[in-house]
Amino acid sequence: MALKVKVDRELCIGAASCVAVAPNTFELDNEGKAVIKKKDGTMTSDFVNYTDIGDNEINISNAAKSCPVNAIIIVEVDDAGNEIRQVWPA
Ligand code: SF4
Repeated sequence: MALKVKVDRELCIGAASCVAVAPNTFELDNEGKAVIKKKDGTMTSDFVNYTDIGDNEINISNAAKSCPVNAIIIVEVDDAGNEIRQVWPA
């Protein structure tokens, strides 16, 4: 199944546990909010396909579960990239 992940910047409190668990995926920006690092070198808090991220699925999942405010959202998408269901928070 294909997965996408994003950070809800309204919820993020900059606790950085995601950065500790999945440092190839998450980083804090200059506002102290988590952003997702893409393989092409760009960063965003919007949805990114797992195939564009340097960490594996387990690391990203563990990072999401480590967030104290559930600011990391994971969804399953179909072949066209449309959301099928929210995977995390469950
Ligand atoms: S763990 Fe959650 S609150 Fe902390 S920086 Fe990451 S997304 Fe933000």
